[in-house]
Amino acid sequence: MTHSHSENNGTDDVSEEKRPKKEEQEPASETVSEVAPNILRTQLPVNLPGLGHVNCYVLEDNQGIAVVDPGLPGDDSWSALTNRLKSAGFKIEDIHTVVVTHSHFDHFGSAERIRENTQANILTHENFRNAFNRTEILESEDSSSLDPNSEEAQQQVIERIFSERLPWGSKRSMPPPEEIDRFKKMGRFNSSWFRTPEPTIEVTDNEPVSLGGREWLSIHTPGHTNDHLCLWDPEYGVMFSGDHVLPTITPHIGGISPESDPLAKFFASLHKMTHFKDVSIALPAHGHPFANLGERSLEIIEHHEERLETIRNAAQQLIDGSVTDYMRVLFSKRAWGDMAESETFAHLEHLKELGELGRKTENGLMTYQMKS
Ligand SMILES: [Zn+2]
Repeated sequence: MTHSHSENNGTDDVSEEKRPKKEEQEPASETVSEVAPNILRTQLPVNLPGLGHVNCYVLEDNQGIAVVDPGLPGDDSWSALTNRLKSAGFKIEDIHTVVVTHSHFDHFGSAERIRENTQANILTHENFRNAFNRTEILESEDSSSLDPNSEEAQQQVIERIFSERLPWGSKRSMPPPEEIDRFKKMGRFNSSWFRTPEPTIEVTDNEPVSLGGREWLSIHTPGHTNDHLCLWDPEYGVMFSGDHVLPTITPHIGGISPESDPLAKFFASLHKMTHFKDVSIALPAHGHPFANLGERSLEIIEHHEERLETIRNAAQQLIDGSVTDYMRVLFSKRAWGDMAESETFAHLEHLKELGELGRKTENGLMTYQMKS
């Protein structure tokens, strides 16, 4: 399924057979490890294209525990969370705070269910509520009579999502049936998967947050989503980097955003990461912890600069190219689809904002032109 999960699957043009398995694709390990003082890394299963797990970090203090990104909705993730906590000597009832780095459902999925059990606070960036609200998909009258867990209701949710037109005029493409089947099997898949939790604590940039017996600073890092939040611990040099900076794949930059030019925001948020000195460890939402946060951020910037350059070159030949046309230039065939289109759109809009490309819309379809 496309727009709700987050990263593109290493869409770099490396030939099929040579592509090493990315860290983010590794299946969820049951091992719980201490990655920084009083911070445990647990891994919860995520069976999505390009992603095998999401890291749910556990911070202990004298009130109980906080968890960062408690995984997908559904029973599979829930039982994994329960088991991981148990093996670390905790239970769901110990959770007093859920931190959600951004509004994608592999990160917020279990948040509401935890709160139902424990009255835990849900802490997010203040943009969280508006960034990804799919109630229009959920609240259709014809589905209310169906058991939300029935095969029929599942099919309705999927069809409603994929009948939407994308903002640049393309039609959404239905994922292959085997992908849809795999999705439905992830434990009680239904319309509630797309319902974002209601935060109880909202932070902006640079606010103190006490968790795990230390003082963190909230770092707003729009780009991947406009509500993306990192947390920085200046004392130990620990950064929760969420999906903003990942170790071996480049985070998806969605063109569908409430703000214009999300790529410019992403560049600024990546540059921000290079200003933190004495980073001892970055804790990403997928893949293994890493230390070279600034360097990795610059690599990701470079990756997108290369894509912009590819578009500039293509624009000399493509007359009135659509988002789909440019996507086919930027991405190898196996990556074609809505995610690739959305990311291409973000790059085209960035060049438009820079004044390098013009844009026309005819019958709802957008095309881009070189400006002379
Ligand atoms: Zn993610």
